[in-house]
Amino acid sequence: MSKKHITDNWYIKVHDAKGDYEKVGDYIPERKKMPESIITTSPNNDHWNNWPGIDSITIKEIMSPKKRIKKLTKVFEKMLKVMDIDQNSIHFKETPERMARMYVNEVFKGLYFPEPKFTVFDDDSEEMVFLGGIDVHSTCGHHFAAIKGTAAIGYIPNGKLVGISKLARITDYFARRPQVQEMLVADIADYLMEKLKPKGLGVYIAAQHGCIIARGAMQNDSIMKTTALRGCFLKDKTVAEEFYRNISL
Ligand SMILES: [Zn+2]
Repeated sequence: MSKKHITDNWYIKVHDAKGDYEKVGDYIPERKKMPESIITTSPNNDHWNNWPGIDSITIKEIMSPKKRIKKLTKVFEKMLKVMDIDQNSIHFKETPERMARMYVNEVFKGLYFPEPKFTVFDDDSEEMVFLGGIDVHSTCGHHFAAIKGTAAIGYIPNGKLVGISKLARITDYFARRPQVQEMLVADIADYLMEKLKPKGLGVYIAAQHGCIIARGAMQNDSIMKTTALRGCFLKDKTVAEEFYRNISL
Protein backbone atom coordinates (compact mmCIF):
# COMPACT_ATOMS: atom_id res chain seq x y z
CA MET A 1 0.00 0.00 0.00
CA SER A 2 1.16 3.47 -0.79
CA LYS A 3 2.75 5.43 2.01
CA LYS A 4 1.37 8.65 0.57
CA HIS A 5 -0.88 10.32 3.08
CA ILE A 6 -4.33 10.98 1.70
CA THR A 7 -6.47 13.58 3.37
CA ASP A 8 -10.00 14.78 2.81
CA ASN A 9 -10.03 17.28 0.02
CA TRP A 10 -12.01 18.82 -2.78
CA TYR A 11 -11.22 18.43 -6.44
CA ILE A 12 -12.30 21.60 -8.15
CA LYS A 13 -12.30 22.33 -11.88
CA VAL A 14 -13.41 25.76 -13.02
CA HIS A 15 -14.07 26.62 -16.63
CA ASP A 16 -14.33 30.27 -17.51
CA ALA A 17 -13.35 32.69 -20.28
CA LYS A 18 -9.66 32.28 -19.38
CA GLY A 19 -9.80 28.52 -19.83
CA ASP A 20 -9.80 25.57 -17.48
CA TYR A 21 -8.39 25.70 -14.01
CA GLU A 22 -7.94 22.54 -12.00
CA LYS A 23 -7.06 22.25 -8.37
CA VAL A 24 -7.10 19.62 -5.71
CA GLY A 25 -7.57 21.34 -2.44
CA ASP A 26 -10.02 23.31 -0.42
CA TYR A 27 -8.77 26.65 -1.55
CA ILE A 28 -8.05 28.41 -4.86
CA PRO A 29 -5.42 31.13 -4.33
CA GLU A 30 -6.04 32.75 -7.72
CA ARG A 31 -9.64 33.29 -6.82
CA LYS A 32 -9.25 34.96 -3.50
CA LYS A 33 -11.97 37.37 -4.52
CA MET A 34 -14.49 34.65 -4.06
CA PRO A 35 -16.04 34.53 -0.63
CA GLU A 36 -13.99 32.24 1.59
CA SER A 37 -17.14 30.46 2.65
CA ILE A 38 -17.80 29.26 -0.89
CA ILE A 39 -14.29 27.95 -1.32
CA THR A 40 -13.83 26.25 1.98
CA THR A 41 -17.25 25.05 2.96
CA SER A 42 -19.18 22.19 1.51
CA PRO A 43 -19.45 23.03 -2.19
CA ASN A 44 -22.77 24.01 -3.61
CA ASN A 45 -22.90 23.91 -7.40
CA ASP A 46 -25.68 26.46 -7.73
CA HIS A 47 -23.74 28.96 -5.72
CA TRP A 48 -20.60 28.52 -7.81
CA ASN A 49 -22.41 28.58 -11.12
CA ASN A 50 -23.97 31.94 -10.31
CA TRP A 51 -20.57 33.50 -9.85
CA PRO A 52 -19.86 35.94 -12.74
CA GLY A 53 -17.44 34.70 -15.42
CA ILE A 54 -17.74 31.01 -14.59
CA ASP A 55 -19.19 28.86 -17.35
CA SER A 56 -19.11 25.58 -15.53
CA ILE A 57 -17.61 23.97 -12.46
CA THR A 58 -16.96 20.42 -11.37
CA ILE A 59 -16.61 19.75 -7.67
CA LYS A 60 -15.88 16.34 -6.30
CA GLU A 61 -15.08 15.33 -2.78
CA ILE A 62 -11.87 13.36 -2.36
CA MET A 63 -12.34 11.34 0.77
CA SER A 64 -9.55 9.99 2.89
CA PRO A 65 -9.62 6.18 3.29
CA LYS A 66 -10.33 6.68 6.99
CA LYS A 67 -13.42 8.79 6.36
CA ARG A 68 -14.62 6.47 3.59
CA ILE A 69 -14.36 3.46 5.90
CA LYS A 70 -16.34 5.30 8.55
CA LYS A 71 -19.09 6.25 6.10
CA LEU A 72 -19.20 2.81 4.47
CA THR A 73 -19.46 1.09 7.85
CA LYS A 74 -22.70 2.98 8.50
CA VAL A 75 -24.01 1.98 5.06
CA PHE A 76 -23.15 -1.70 5.59
CA GLU A 77 -24.82 -1.62 9.01
CA LYS A 78 -28.02 -0.53 7.28
CA MET A 79 -27.52 -3.09 4.53
CA LEU A 80 -27.17 -5.97 6.99
CA LYS A 81 -30.25 -4.76 8.81
CA VAL A 82 -32.31 -4.81 5.59
CA MET A 83 -30.88 -8.29 4.90
CA ASP A 84 -32.18 -9.38 8.31
CA ILE A 85 -28.75 -10.37 9.56
CA ASP A 86 -28.42 -10.28 13.32
CA GLN A 87 -25.65 -7.83 14.14
CA ASN A 88 -25.73 -8.83 17.79
CA SER A 89 -24.28 -12.19 16.84
CA ILE A 90 -20.59 -12.48 17.57
CA HIS A 91 -19.98 -13.45 13.94
CA PHE A 92 -21.71 -10.45 12.33
CA LYS A 93 -21.10 -7.78 14.95
CA GLU A 94 -17.96 -6.40 13.32
CA THR A 95 -18.96 -7.33 9.77
CA PRO A 96 -19.97 -3.84 8.54
CA GLU A 97 -16.63 -2.34 9.56
CA ARG A 98 -14.73 -5.39 8.34
CA MET A 99 -16.43 -5.08 4.94
CA ALA A 100 -15.75 -1.35 4.77
CA ARG A 101 -12.05 -1.86 5.52
CA MET A 102 -11.84 -4.71 3.01
CA TYR A 103 -13.36 -2.69 0.15
CA VAL A 104 -11.37 0.47 0.79
CA ASN A 105 -7.98 -0.97 1.74
CA GLU A 106 -7.93 -4.12 -0.37
CA VAL A 107 -10.62 -5.10 -2.86
CA PHE A 108 -11.15 -1.63 -4.40
CA LYS A 109 -7.90 -0.02 -3.31
CA GLY A 110 -7.14 0.83 -6.96
CA LEU A 111 -9.89 3.45 -6.73
CA TYR A 112 -8.74 5.13 -3.55
CA PHE A 113 -4.94 5.01 -3.50
CA PRO A 114 -2.37 6.49 -5.87
CA GLU A 115 -0.86 4.25 -8.52
CA PRO A 116 2.42 2.51 -7.66
CA LYS A 117 5.65 4.19 -8.64
CA PHE A 118 6.50 3.44 -12.26
CA THR A 119 10.10 4.21 -13.08
CA VAL A 120 11.58 3.42 -16.46
CA PHE A 121 15.25 3.32 -17.42
CA ASP A 122 17.06 3.71 -20.72
CA ASP A 123 18.10 0.53 -22.47
CA ASP A 124 18.59 -0.47 -26.08
CA SER A 125 17.17 -4.04 -25.87
CA GLU A 126 15.09 -4.96 -28.85
CA GLU A 127 13.77 -8.36 -27.83
CA MET A 128 10.46 -9.11 -26.19
CA VAL A 129 10.23 -8.76 -22.42
CA PHE A 130 7.62 -11.14 -21.03
CA LEU A 131 6.18 -11.77 -17.59
CA GLY A 132 3.60 -14.49 -17.10
CA GLY A 133 1.81 -16.01 -14.13
CA ILE A 134 0.91 -12.63 -12.59
CA ASP A 135 -1.79 -13.03 -9.95
CA VAL A 136 -5.07 -11.30 -10.70
CA HIS A 137 -7.62 -10.64 -7.98
CA SER A 138 -10.45 -8.44 -9.13
CA THR A 139 -14.18 -7.89 -8.77
CA CYS A 140 -16.90 -8.16 -11.38
CA GLY A 141 -18.66 -4.83 -11.65
CA HIS A 142 -22.02 -6.43 -12.42
CA HIS A 143 -22.30 -8.62 -9.33
CA PHE A 144 -19.42 -7.57 -7.06
CA ALA A 145 -18.31 -11.21 -7.21
CA ALA A 146 -14.65 -12.22 -7.12
CA ILE A 147 -12.55 -12.63 -10.25
CA LYS A 148 -9.44 -14.76 -9.84
CA GLY A 149 -6.88 -15.56 -12.47
CA THR A 150 -3.51 -14.87 -13.99
CA ALA A 151 -2.13 -12.29 -16.36
CA ALA A 152 0.73 -12.19 -18.84
CA ILE A 153 2.35 -9.07 -20.24
CA GLY A 154 4.84 -8.85 -23.08
CA TYR A 155 6.38 -5.81 -24.73
CA ILE A 156 8.99 -4.89 -27.30
CA PRO A 157 11.05 -2.03 -25.82
CA ASN A 158 11.63 1.21 -27.61
CA GLY A 159 14.64 2.55 -25.72
CA LYS A 160 13.12 2.05 -22.26
CA LEU A 161 12.64 -0.80 -19.82
CA VAL A 162 10.68 -1.06 -16.61
CA GLY A 163 11.51 -3.21 -13.58
CA ILE A 164 9.62 -6.49 -14.03
CA SER A 165 7.92 -6.27 -10.62
CA LYS A 166 6.22 -3.06 -11.78
CA LEU A 167 4.29 -5.05 -14.38
CA ALA A 168 2.83 -7.15 -11.57
CA ARG A 169 2.15 -4.10 -9.40
CA ILE A 170 0.39 -2.22 -12.19
CA THR A 171 -1.73 -5.28 -12.96
CA ASP A 172 -2.77 -5.45 -9.31
CA TYR A 173 -3.45 -1.70 -9.19
CA PHE A 174 -5.90 -1.87 -12.08
CA ALA A 175 -7.37 -5.18 -10.91
CA ARG A 176 -8.38 -3.80 -7.51
CA ARG A 177 -11.59 -2.13 -8.61
CA PRO A 178 -14.99 -3.25 -9.90
CA GLN A 179 -14.95 -3.86 -13.65
CA VAL A 180 -15.33 -6.24 -16.56
CA GLN A 181 -12.33 -8.27 -17.68
CA GLU A 182 -12.41 -6.75 -21.18
CA MET A 183 -11.77 -3.34 -19.60
CA LEU A 184 -9.00 -4.59 -17.34
CA VAL A 185 -6.69 -5.80 -20.14
CA ALA A 186 -7.30 -2.55 -22.06
CA ASP A 187 -6.63 -0.36 -18.99
CA ILE A 188 -3.30 -2.09 -18.32
CA ALA A 189 -2.31 -1.99 -22.00
CA ASP A 190 -3.13 1.71 -22.42
CA TYR A 191 -1.36 2.66 -19.20
CA LEU A 192 1.82 0.82 -20.24
CA MET A 193 1.71 2.30 -23.75
CA GLU A 194 1.56 5.76 -22.23
CA LYS A 195 4.24 5.30 -19.57
CA LEU A 196 6.67 2.93 -21.28
CA LYS A 197 6.07 3.88 -24.92
CA PRO A 198 7.16 0.47 -26.25
CA LYS A 199 7.06 -0.54 -29.93
CA GLY A 200 4.12 -2.68 -28.96
CA LEU A 201 2.69 -4.83 -26.22
CA GLY A 202 0.23 -7.50 -25.28
CA VAL A 203 -1.77 -8.04 -22.11
CA TYR A 204 -3.53 -11.36 -21.57
CA ILE A 205 -5.74 -12.43 -18.69
CA ALA A 206 -7.32 -15.82 -18.01
CA ALA A 207 -9.68 -15.73 -15.06
CA GLN A 208 -12.55 -17.41 -13.30
CA HIS A 209 -15.58 -15.33 -12.40
CA GLY A 210 -17.44 -16.03 -9.18
CA CYS A 211 -20.66 -14.71 -10.70
CA ILE A 212 -20.94 -17.57 -13.18
CA ILE A 213 -19.42 -20.24 -10.93
CA ALA A 214 -21.46 -19.89 -7.76
CA ARG A 215 -24.66 -18.53 -9.28
CA GLY A 216 -26.41 -17.96 -12.60
CA ALA A 217 -24.96 -20.25 -15.25
CA MET A 218 -23.12 -22.29 -12.55
CA GLN A 219 -20.12 -23.03 -14.76
CA ASN A 220 -17.55 -24.34 -12.34
CA ASP A 221 -14.64 -24.76 -14.73
CA SER A 222 -15.27 -21.87 -17.08
CA ILE A 223 -12.31 -19.59 -17.78
CA MET A 224 -12.61 -16.23 -19.46
CA LYS A 225 -9.67 -15.18 -21.61
CA THR A 226 -9.14 -11.63 -22.83
CA THR A 227 -6.29 -10.01 -24.72
CA ALA A 228 -5.33 -6.45 -25.56
CA LEU A 229 -2.68 -5.95 -28.23
CA ARG A 230 -1.08 -2.64 -29.14
CA GLY A 231 1.48 -1.35 -31.67
CA CYS A 232 3.65 -3.98 -33.40
CA PHE A 233 1.78 -6.80 -31.63
CA LEU A 234 -1.17 -5.90 -33.84
CA LYS A 235 0.79 -5.35 -37.03
CA ASP A 236 3.44 -8.06 -36.89
CA LYS A 237 2.14 -11.62 -36.81
CA THR A 238 5.45 -13.15 -35.69
CA VAL A 239 5.57 -10.85 -32.65
CA ALA A 240 2.02 -11.78 -31.67
CA GLU A 241 2.88 -15.45 -32.15
CA GLU A 242 5.91 -15.14 -29.86
CA PHE A 243 3.68 -13.55 -27.24
CA TYR A 244 1.10 -16.35 -27.42
CA ARG A 245 3.84 -18.99 -27.39
CA ASN A 246 5.26 -17.49 -24.21
CA ILE A 247 1.81 -17.64 -22.62
CA SER A 248 1.46 -21.33 -23.36
CA LEU A 249 4.92 -22.27 -22.08
ZN1 LIG B 1 -20.57 -10.71 -12.83
